[in-house]
Amino acid sequence: MGKIRQLSDELSNKIAAGEVVERPASVVKELVENAIDANSTVIEIELEEAGLSKIRILDNGDGIAPEDCLTAFRRHATSKIKTENDLFRIRTLGFRGEALPSIASVSMLEIKTSTGDEAGTHLKLRGGEITHHEPSSSRKGTEIIVENLFFNTPARLKYMKTINTELGNVTDVVNRLAMANPHVSIRLIHQGRQLLYTNGSGDARQVLAAIYGMAVAKKMIPLKVESLDYDITGYIALPEVTRASRSYMSTTINGRFIKNYGLLKAIQQGYHTLLPIGRFPVVFLAINMDPLLVDVNVHPAKLEVRLSKEAELYELVEEAIKAAFKKQQLIPEVTAAS
Ligand code: ADP
Ligand code: MG
Repeated sequence: MGKIRQLSDELSNKIAAGEVVERPASVVKELVENAIDANSTVIEIELEEAGLSKIRILDNGDGIAPEDCLTAFRRHATSKIKTENDLFRIRTLGFRGEALPSIASVSMLEIKTSTGDEAGTHLKLRGGEITHHEPSSSRKGTEIIVENLFFNTPARLKYMKTINTELGNVTDVVNRLAMANPHVSIRLIHQGRQLLYTNGSGDARQVLAAIYGMAVAKKMIPLKVESLDYDITGYIALPEVTRASRSYMSTTINGRFIKNYGLLKAIQQGYHTLLPIGRFPVVFLAINMDPLLVDVNVHPAKLEVRLSKEAELYELVEEAIKAAFKKQQLIPEVTAAS
């Protein structure tokens, strides 16, 4: 007998979990993204101890059919892509089929889900092992409860920061998802206290008001620009509203929140000299483009993407912001008289 063995599903899920499930915020991100991919219009997130002891996510989306429910907890099982070709035309937030098995392998998980057509499914898993499986009500949608995260990976649990730090991470993630999905009503509750509510009206300014406060939202002006490859809409704050960090510049591509340094630089260059040194603007830009021009399969968390025509995008953003402020007459036109 040789020395090399195929790892069990349980062990390989736990290894994958190391990458996908870093902290409560990553669980919330994956589960809310699943709810959004399932066409939910209302998503409720309830946490205890920043999600370390309990995360409950309730959605009114498509649900999972009884015959699919066990498969959904297998690694690399997904309803979102089928062929290699699909990988280059990703329109959903998920596609790797890793979140459910990974999360289940490091927690006690319970799911009630139904497509609304027939009885639903009620499953309980402990460290990825199924301990309970029976039919449930046919209320359309999915409820997932994740308890005692990292109960069986003590090293990871030890690495968790304070409740406040973990909660800050969850709030960041939920804020981003809310900004990227103004058509979905999202509510975040921590120990009975509501931290965010967006009404799902599709109005990005309402979401910005919920996150940054009405005073800031009122000082944001709409931005809209199109080119052959890109379609950009968003809001940019007047230069009088500045922040000490870059994290108030938010960008999405095809509904996915992304981090792209070049894009942030282009935004700042759009503001040009209107900002004091060391201060950054409050900006939200939603970029829509052909999925063929963006590769989201760069990192498991999918926060970074590769763009094929990035120089064109940067120029478009910079010029659009400059033009918006010119219109606002914040940048005076150079005329013959002056
Ligand atoms: P992925 O999102 O990459 O497909 P996941 O492990 O996150 O992988 O989910 C596996 C599958 O389970 C999804 O492809 C989807 O079909 C189903 N699923 C997960 N969460 C939900 C949900 N909230 N509503 C409906 N279906 C879901
Ligand atoms: Mg997913």
